[in-house]
Amino acid sequence: MSKPVRVRFAPSPTGKLHIGGARTALFNWAYARRHGGTFVLRIEDTDPERSTKEFERAILEGLAWLGIAWDEGPDIGGPRGPYRQSEKYPQYREIARRVVAAGHAYPCFCSTERLDALRAEQESRKERQVYDRRCAGLDPALAARRVAAGEQAVIRFRVPPGETVCIDHIRGDVRFSHEEVDDWVMVRSDGSPTYNFCVVCDDVEMGITHVFRGEEHLVNTPKQVLLYRALGQPMPEFGHLPLMLGTDGKKLSKRTGDTALQDYRDKGFPRAAVVNFLCLQGWALDGTSVLFSVDQLVANFDIKDVQKAGAIFDPEKFRWMAGEYLRQEATETLADHCAPFVVGAGLCGADELARRRAWFLEVVKTEQARIQTYGELAPRIAYLFQRDDAVAWADEAAARKHAHAAQTLRDYREWLAPRVGGGIDAAALRDASKAWAQERGLKLPAFFQPVRLALCGVVNGADLFDVMALLGAPAVLARLAHGAERLAS
Ligand code: GLU
Repeated sequence: MSKPVRVRFAPSPTGKLHIGGARTALFNWAYARRHGGTFVLRIEDTDPERSTKEFERAILEGLAWLGIAWDEGPDIGGPRGPYRQSEKYPQYREIARRVVAAGHAYPCFCSTERLDALRAEQESRKERQVYDRRCAGLDPALAARRVAAGEQAVIRFRVPPGETVCIDHIRGDVRFSHEEVDDWVMVRSDGSPTYNFCVVCDDVEMGITHVFRGEEHLVNTPKQVLLYRALGQPMPEFGHLPLMLGTDGKKLSKRTGDTALQDYRDKGFPRAAVVNFLCLQGWALDGTSVLFSVDQLVANFDIKDVQKAGAIFDPEKFRWMAGEYLRQEATETLADHCAPFVVGAGLCGADELARRRAWFLEVVKTEQARIQTYGELAPRIAYLFQRDDAVAWADEAAARKHAHAAQTLRDYREWLAPRVGGGIDAAALRDASKAWAQERGLKLPAFFQPVRLALCGVVNGADLFDVMALLGAPAVLARLAHGAERLAS
């Protein structure tokens, strides 16, 4: 029987959770759940300059928001902790000592100047830039004495000759010759361990069976697998997830859209849409289904089905998908999701919105087919909260194009006033108003656009008569009057 699955997500808290990282976490988590395994969260905070507690908190929050629960991690602990690398320096030091003692690593005393000169020389000869192993042949006892006497040294891994094959479930078996691997630095001269060293120590100690991470780490894998060998530990199986690319085929960056998970949450992308869309970056449920639930992901996820080719991240498709999820929501739920954005935009207080719940549900229903994110509702309905004599006009020019626009508003208001005393019935008013406009020989845009401008400040949007019902008769009449005045001036 194969060993129980233990996978991990190992972010460095040097920034917000990147959408690529979120996808890595999702795939690892889904794999663990599918195989009844354990999902470990490990914080790789060995870069004291760039790592912060705030970023760590933001990453944990982001994962929790996605619905990913870790079984072991820095906040909940677990049998193989600590789960923060910064808390493990004594362990790393001890492992480094053992690796040196076994002859798999050695202290290197070469100065930065020497290494720079070496690199420059190799570059001028158009050679690969590698360490020339000057210190690899030093007598170990002598080297140890120099270190003990306080001489500055890094610890380099001694790459043995040969060839290694590692299992990669996405790329197939990856074979590499050790000649391609430099005698890499495990511990810096200030005693701090490097990324490649810590990762292996941790993955070994935490009993990680499968390492699924971004393709950008492929260059590190040979260094790491050689260390497993030196430690006499079984190698995990790998899966290097394809890069996420912008629609221009280049590496994802701010230029092609938001790259932090938090940005999507803050804009009000439905969580299920985010999970669904991120999983599509390299994986598919089957050949045809685009929309799938997290349960379907967990029931079907297999690392072998992840594609090798770069995944194109298309923000337009993402928005489309967000809209699809949002439209499936019950109006009540959608209202709950949109409310914080309405309050956050300063349109009204949470209490007021709660008091006007029935009205707000009508508002949400009116816009549900038109918005793609929860955040989009607020700017679209801002007009409902403005003072009747101070509606913000965005499309004034479009409405002014129509001759006699001010007069149209005045006449319409006069016709309307006696008809809306008992409230507004949108359907009845729609038919009657259109008939009114036609009788007066008005083309529909010449009627609709000025009226909409007066009521909402724009010339496009939700059905005009639904809008009137939401505003209520007094506001409609007041806005028509003010609109006429403003257009006449
Ligand atoms: N800490 C690394 C990163 O944030 C991940 C290392 C790994 O998965 O092996 O990219």
